[in-house]
Amino acid sequence: MKNNANTIEKIVSLSKRRGYIFQSSEIYGGLNGCWDYGPLGVELLNNIKKEWWNSMTLREDVEGLDSSILMHPKVWEASGHVENFTDPMIDCKQCKARFRVDLLGGMLNEKRKKKSVRAILENCNDEKLKNKIEDICSKNNEIDSFDIIIEDSELSGILLNELNCPQCGTQSSFTAAREFNLMFKTFLGPVEDTGSAIFLRPETAQGIFVNFLNVQNSTRQKLPFGIAQIGKAFRNEINTKNFLFRTREFEQMEMQFFVKPTDDKKWYDNWKVERIKWYKGLGMNSENLKFHDHPTNKLAHYAKEATDIEYNFPFGWGEIEGIHNRTDFDLRRHEEFSGKSLKYFDEETKEKTLPYIIETSAGASRSFMAFLTEAYDEEEVNGEQRVVLRLHKKLAPIKASILPLVNKDGMPEIAKKIEEDLRFKFKIFYDDKGAVGRRYRRQDEIGTPYAITIDTQTLEDQTVTVRERDSMEQIRILSDSLSSYLLEKLAE
Ligand code: ATP
Repeated sequence: MKNNANTIEKIVSLSKRRGYIFQSSEIYGGLNGCWDYGPLGVELLNNIKKEWWNSMTLREDVEGLDSSILMHPKVWEASGHVENFTDPMIDCKQCKARFRVDLLGGMLNEKRKKKSVRAILENCNDEKLKNKIEDICSKNNEIDSFDIIIEDSELSGILLNELNCPQCGTQSSFTAAREFNLMFKTFLGPVEDTGSAIFLRPETAQGIFVNFLNVQNSTRQKLPFGIAQIGKAFRNEINTKNFLFRTREFEQMEMQFFVKPTDDKKWYDNWKVERIKWYKGLGMNSENLKFHDHPTNKLAHYAKEATDIEYNFPFGWGEIEGIHNRTDFDLRRHEEFSGKSLKYFDEETKEKTLPYIIETSAGASRSFMAFLTEAYDEEEVNGEQRVVLRLHKKLAPIKASILPLVNKDGMPEIAKKIEEDLRFKFKIFYDDKGAVGRRYRRQDEIGTPYAITIDTQTLEDQTVTVRERDSMEQIRILSDSLSSYLLEKLAE
């Protein structure tokens, strides 16, 4: 089901129809890479963020933070974003499609990659470069060699000559690769000059690093401890596609854990285990989750060790969270650029140290898409197709629907009373329009775990039916015990 090519289209269509996700500025034709969360979408997003926030800050060793999106421009020099936050990109001269060079490999099949590697081995006339290519090929198989060559600034151009455009198929029609900084630039104050240029943050992490000592001093935390933050980040991505997977405005849930340098491995391993557990605890199937460890030669400039948690999207495996051992890179750089000490003073040993940082950086928007994909299901019930979002109860936007069987005989009055009783306990939805079967289907499609029906028997014995979304099983319980029953079930 999940790896059905149409699944994304179906999810996009359901999202719009039922109020999960709308295209940004739709009436003006939309804005590429930006999406709006509708009434149900914002509930699901908030529930994901709440679960993450609680899993982090209900621990005694993690504090919360909400730092500003706009930061001093030096922050981005210190972080390496001004220098390194670029993606080489190429355009097809024929069809004008734009590609990120490092993602090109993912668009080609293995046969195509092997063929191109063989072709550059044969066609390269530059002795020095040819030796370099031969060296890579002698140590790796052809497919890995392709990935290494395409990311090598000296060699990628020669390889691109051998490739067809993945969109229109034209051969060697690419422009030379150009570096493209992904940060959005804006200006502080009314004058647009270079002195007032600042950036929208491309990640929330830096707000945590520069506040490390503020948080530590104000909370008296001792190493190891973490700082958690949820917030918007902006990247002027070259290719925005696959719905919410790669957008230009998105939300991150980041926790930076400060440890003694000698404890880095222990905590890196620990957070790997904790984080994958979090996704599974919210209903993700183990088969759809995996770690992708970064090989040492592909680590980001700040990282000693890194892994991605990947989800099995219908378009293939994609990163939903990065876990990195950032060493003391960030604190050291901020010390250098600000001239202020960011060292931690250990009361016991009376020593000052720069802690290492273990980062867990999850995308709220990307996990939103992963949770939606995981939940989406179609099945046949009594000869009819049923679409059901099997969202975890904690994530479901609406927890229960209240459905009087008919709009007469005192049923609406009882239903309204139940509604009043439940309204402020959790999110509910009152629906008295149309056949009850159709109303069930509407709730299934948006993932509501429970449907409460008031029928003729309710008038006789004050019981109502409670139908469970996934199994469609119904039980009867006294309407007086409904609230405690549902609260207990929703907490499971
Ligand atoms: P990618 O390689 O896919 O561009 P990344 O390695 O640059 O991602 P990180 O910088 O590690 O991503 O960011 C941490 C998390 O933030 C990612 O795992 C992802 O969930 C989320 N994220 C990053 N870029 C985007 C984006 N453009 N749209 C939505 N979410 C994003």
